[in-house]
Amino acid sequence: MVKVTLWGSIGKQLEDIITRNERTAVILTITSVFVDEFKGEICLSSTGATQLKANLDIPEVLEFKARDSNLPAPVLLPEVPAAEIPKISLAQLNDFKSDEAQNDKLFSVEGMVTQVRPNWCYMGCVACPRKVEEDLEEYFCGHCKTTSRIAKAKYRVKFQLKDGTGEADFAILEHEGLRFFGVMADELFQSNQRNKESLPPQIHQIVNMTLKLTVKLTEFNIMNPQTEISVVSIDHDPLQQLNKDLCSKDLGGATSVEQKMEAAFDCEADDQK
Ligand SMILES: [Zn+2]
Repeated sequence: MVKVTLWGSIGKQLEDIITRNERTAVILTITSVFVDEFKGEICLSSTGATQLKANLDIPEVLEFKARDSNLPAPVLLPEVPAAEIPKISLAQLNDFKSDEAQNDKLFSVEGMVTQVRPNWCYMGCVACPRKVEEDLEEYFCGHCKTTSRIAKAKYRVKFQLKDGTGEADFAILEHEGLRFFGVMADELFQSNQRNKESLPPQIHQIVNMTLKLTVKLTEFNIMNPQTEISVVSIDHDPLQQLNKDLCSKDLGGATSVEQKMEAAFDCEADDQK
C-alpha cells in the first residue's frame, strides 16, 4: 500500500472519475509523480506533469484485472477507428508482404483457425517484454543486461487462418493473449506443467473458430515474408458465431438473440431424435 497525494486540478480529476464510475471499481494509472519518504513509508505526490487515467487498456492494467475478476473491464482506446482499417482477404495480405508501401499498416482480416502451432509461449524478462536466454537455472536479458533466477512466460501463440482465398500465419502476443484468453500466460504455463510445447486446452480450443482480426504488417514481415503477422486485436463474438452456424437452419422467424438461442437448442434437440 502506498499513499498518494493529488494536488489542485488533478485532485478534481479524481473526483470526476469517481463520480463517473460510481458503482464500479476503477483501476487508476498515475504518471509522473514525485516520490518521497515520510516516517519510513514511500509517499507519492502529483506534479505539474501528472496524468490520471481510469481503466487504461495497457498490459499492466489487464494483468491487474486478471488477478481479480470483480474488477471492471478496461475501456478500449483503439489507435485507429475501426472504419478506417481496410478489410482485405488473406491472399491480398500475403501479396502485401512483398509491398514496402504497406509497411506498418493495420488491416482487418477474417477466417477460420486451421491449426495452432506448438510452442505457444516464450520465457520473458520480468523487467521488459523481451525474450530471455535460458542457461540452466538462470535467465539473461540482452536488453536489460541482467541475469535473473526468475522469468515469466509470455504469449506468442502462432496459428494459421484460412479464408476462401488463401492461408496466412499470425501470432497472438502478450497483450492481446491476456485479453483474449483471460489469463496471464505465466499462470497458464504453470497450470500446463511448465510446458511450452504442448498446447493448454484454452489455446487449443481456438482451432475451427472463426476470428476477425486486426493485424499489423511490419517492416520485419516485409523483409521476412515467412514470419507471422502480429495480431493487434481479436474480435470474436460467440453469439455472432452461433448466429452464423445457424444460418442454414430454419429458426421459425426468431428475431431476438434469446429467441434464436432457444430455437437453436430446439434444433439441436430435433437433431438428436
Ligand atoms: Zn529485460
